[in-house]
Amino acid sequence: MKGGFPARAAVALGDTQLRRNLAVATGTIRRKRAQVVSERPDWEELREAGRALKQRVLRHLDEYLLQFEAAVEQAGGRVHWARDAAEANRTIVSLVRGAGAREVVKVKSLTTDEIALNRALEAAGIATVETDLAELIVQLAGETPSHILVPAIHKNRFEIRDVLRRELGLPDLSAEPADLTAAARAYLRRKFLGAEVAVSGANFAVAETGTVCVVESEGNGRFCTTLPRVLVTVLGIEKLVPAPEDLEVFLQLLPRSSTGERMNPYTSLWTGITPGDGPEEFHVVLLDNGRTAVLSDEVGRETLACIRCSACLNVCPVYSRTGGHAYGSVYPGPIGAILTPQLAGVDRAGSLPYASSLCGACGEVCPVKIDIPKVLVHLRGRVTRETVRAADPERIAMRALAWSFGDERRFERAQKAARVGQLPFARGGRIERLPGLAGWTRTRDLPALPAQTFREWWRART
Ligand code: SF4
Repeated sequence: MKGGFPARAAVALGDTQLRRNLAVATGTIRRKRAQVVSERPDWEELREAGRALKQRVLRHLDEYLLQFEAAVEQAGGRVHWARDAAEANRTIVSLVRGAGAREVVKVKSLTTDEIALNRALEAAGIATVETDLAELIVQLAGETPSHILVPAIHKNRFEIRDVLRRELGLPDLSAEPADLTAAARAYLRRKFLGAEVAVSGANFAVAETGTVCVVESEGNGRFCTTLPRVLVTVLGIEKLVPAPEDLEVFLQLLPRSSTGERMNPYTSLWTGITPGDGPEEFHVVLLDNGRTAVLSDEVGRETLACIRCSACLNVCPVYSRTGGHAYGSVYPGPIGAILTPQLAGVDRAGSLPYASSLCGACGEVCPVKIDIPKVLVHLRGRVTRETVRAADPERIAMRALAWSFGDERRFERAQKAARVGQLPFARGGRIERLPGLAGWTRTRDLPALPAQTFREWWRART
């Protein structure tokens, strides 16, 4: 991830149109969410139920996965286990080739973005068509999504019209939302009707029955999951819920938290195959790609409870100014800041845990109560321990501080020494710069040590 978050954020902050688009879009979704959440007197109980269910799944994930595999196969589907992105892509390419297809339609495909499936398919000579309207716009524009739920949040309707005019050859297209959707609909209908293979992601999957669930707003997902002859679903292993009735909790939490709606316009559930109705072949690719490593981190593992609602993005003061591209990751915003470094490695995405003011707004809105600020701080510690060399001055200084703070006498001696040592640097009661710690003090001021500490004052008094 070249450049890190600060460099990319600096570019984004210089784009006033982007900032205007983001402010309007995140502000609108925030208000809608607050309204529909306030209608539920049991919202906190729902959040608690969602959290407890996800924790249970993570505690017994091995059992639920095997149960899910057995249920899918019992219903006529096939399960393929994929350790990483390469293995998942190889499996999908071979399934598409096996079906004799040269083009696939895709829906709800954040997980497929994580494994860069489009690139792998294109390298194998297979074209991909995104069918979610916003993802289609992003694909036609040759860009990457900038929001989990609203991938083209960085574009206004005039920019979208320009993309559709150019890429679909429609010079007279207006910027009216109805005209834009009609143009995309006409294009996509042709693609749906000609597709042999569809690739979908999934919001949830039920261990007990092998059922897969996709929620969406446009109905395009339903075309994808019913029309093509072969359906391949890519599923992160953490997406399971134990039983069908558990969906009741998440199907209330998710729409209110994501689009600010009381329920999703389209909720599709399917189990295996049904002769004469829908796809003739159904495959599930169960993707690990770093998730079991996340599971082994006692603090970081709660990240896997995420249901990708994007509420944390919309309230984040950092995301709502920089947008998603600054994160350089498929998962932007606060969830990206904790998930990406764990999946990709803190050495590759070490700047992301710092892309936060730690204000706590993300944790307050999270429908499954992930303590995002706690995980951010934990990951900052990991970044320091795993990527900063032992001789780094900041690291040495922090260790020395920890050592001094660990014993009362050491602490008092350090205070005395610091009172003398600070003299060349303290100005107006503050220290704004320290040699060797320029990076740390560039964004922080230290209060200068007073001539008498509270303890010294207390002792002198008693
Ligand atoms: S971390 Fe929580 S608020 Fe953010 S996307 Fe995931 S579930 Fe939603």
